[in-house]
Amino acid sequence: MSTCYNPKTMDELGQALSQLTGRSLILAGGTDLVLRLRSKHLEPDALLSLSGVPDLQEIEITPERASIGAMSTMARVNQALDGLPDLQALADAAGGVGSPQIRNKGTIGGNAANASAAADLPPVLWLLNAQAEIMGPGGARRTIPVQELPDGHQGNTLAVGEVVVRFVIDRPPLKGWRSAFVKLGHRSQVTISRIGLAAALLQEEDGTVRDARIVAGAIKPVPFPLPAAEDILRGKRPDPALAVELGETFKGNTRRVYKENAAKGVFQDILLRFQ
Ligand SMILES: Cc1cc2nc3c(=O)[nH]c(=O)nc-3n(C[C@H](O)[C@H](O)[C@H](O)COP(=O)(O)OP(=O)(O)OC[C@H]3O[C@@H](n4cnc5c(N)ncnc54)[C@H](O)[C@@H]3O)c2cc1C
Repeated sequence: MSTCYNPKTMDELGQALSQLTGRSLILAGGTDLVLRLRSKHLEPDALLSLSGVPDLQEIEITPERASIGAMSTMARVNQALDGLPDLQALADAAGGVGSPQIRNKGTIGGNAANASAAADLPPVLWLLNAQAEIMGPGGARRTIPVQELPDGHQGNTLAVGEVVVRFVIDRPPLKGWRSAFVKLGHRSQVTISRIGLAAALLQEEDGTVRDARIVAGAIKPVPFPLPAAEDILRGKRPDPALAVELGETFKGNTRRVYKENAAKGVFQDILLRFQ
């Protein structure tokens, strides 16, 4: 039978992490892990629940940075960031995950650490150059770019006994930028992304794009930037008529022809957000 750890403070969390082995599991909101535990009949030697540590649920937004505890639920991330132009893409992505029940349980840490190629938040965390703060055995801390978090390609890049404790986004470099996230799924609700598109634009007063960043998700095992699409947008207004040309930049990035075609519609949707 597994040992269960349920720390209540960050110090207790550090101590509990020291007890974990390669056969132990970390439990956040459980929306993925509980299904996996059942379907794969996993028998971990220990289960560490993060839900009792209030610090992991803290969200702090200042003009300098957004600090989002790894145990912040999708619902809370959406609520805290909705309406902040630079961080809107993260609010959009969190607000579009699953159903209200999933958004009330599923966490930002679980979404990013799960290493699912179809997860909605990683492309946005990449877009916003988020940093992930990691705690290891004994409470040791280190910070890494989100690009180095576990992914569907390399597998788990966290060491045994390491957890993500929070995400930090530096806001001054995003001053004046607006961002948005749009996803394409089989259905309009409770759907896994077939394409996730995160975009941030810095626009002149008349709407002309001075600078652009675009990151696509759910196409490859990890998100990837689309520099050719960014080039197309610079110096132009974000007219939805550009969607066809922008969609062409998906060519060579996916073997699924329908995604190449569907990308045009997704670009159109995202451009409408910047009118
Ligand atoms: C019906 C349904 C619909 C869904 N819809 C979507 C969707 O639209 N978009 C989407 O992206 N996902 C979706 N998901 C997947 C899932 O709900 C999300 O990825 C969710 O954010 C996972 O978070 P969690 O807290 O529940 O993670 P858990 O299930 O608790 O954990 C997931 C994995 O991450 C690890 N982990 C969790 N937190 C940490 C941490 N802080 N540090 C290190 N490792 C950690 C766990 O050990 C586990 O391996 C859906 C799932 C279901 C069941």
